[in-house]
Amino acid sequence: MSTKKIALVTGGGSGLGFAIAQQFVQHGITTIIAGRDMDKLNKAKETLGSDCHARTCDVTNLASIPEFVNGLVQDFGQIDILVNNAGINQKKEFTEVTDEEFQRVISTNLCAVFTMSREVVKDMLKRNSGCIINISSMAAQYGLPKVIAYSASKTAIDGLTRAMAVELSPKGIRVNAIAPGFIYSDMTATALNSDPERKAKVFGRTPMGHMGQPEDIGQAALYLASDGAKYVTGVVLPVDGGNSIGF
Ligand code: NDP
Repeated sequence: MSTKKIALVTGGGSGLGFAIAQQFVQHGITTIIAGRDMDKLNKAKETLGSDCHARTCDVTNLASIPEFVNGLVQDFGQIDILVNNAGINQKKEFTEVTDEEFQRVISTNLCAVFTMSREVVKDMLKRNSGCIINISSMAAQYGLPKVIAYSASKTAIDGLTRAMAVELSPKGIRVNAIAPGFIYSDMTATALNSDPERKAKVFGRTPMGHMGQPEDIGQAALYLASDGAKYVTGVVLPVDGGNSIGF
């Protein structure tokens, strides 16, 4: 049996999930990336190499999650680290958001995190050991306009993280969250550059004065997953250049 740790990163085919998977693989963690788009996952796997494995999974199909997790446990032996990173956002005026749209965001960003965690924890409990990292957001730290469902989902993630941590830490499973600030991607950079007022607002309250890089989130996840964080549980770690405490 391999002594390498096994991680599952949902949404690991792109963006922050990819950056997390990259750090994990580079530091000897066998990493399974999961998402709906196999082409995207295969491209990521090509870059990440043979210690990365790609699996399709639509996390909103909650009923399929137990079988998905059981399949991984059969193939890889166990899951030591779960990163609940898959997520969607929707920017829309409060009164324009339909019930279906609200539920779709909640289902992806919250319900799936619960179900995936519950199933993976069943495996972790066999060894009384494991680490779960949820990806939260600045939307849970302060009020942001036009992202009602997203804000609700990410605020719930912080509560879920704390509740899971108190229940599971006595059983050897640490549960933490990362709250990324404004992190560079083609999409976020274009969005900010096309809205100078918003850009000024973001950087006006970010003491470090610039955006973060996906790698910053990868490094934070690597730390939380490592033995160096063996006494850390129940925290929501902002990786935000000070944005959440900025004036
Ligand atoms: P991306 O859109 O690049 O990545 C999201 C990933 O989630 C994709 O790989 C996508 O894969 C996967 N995903 C979405 N829906 C599903 C689903 N139903 N089932 C399985 N996988 C799914 O976004 P980011 O990297 O920016 O976001 C990653 C996380 O970080 C999210 O939780 C987001 O809320 C959070 N975040 C990001 C910030 C940023 O600045 N980028 C700031 C704060 C928080 P596929 O299409 O293959 O299904």
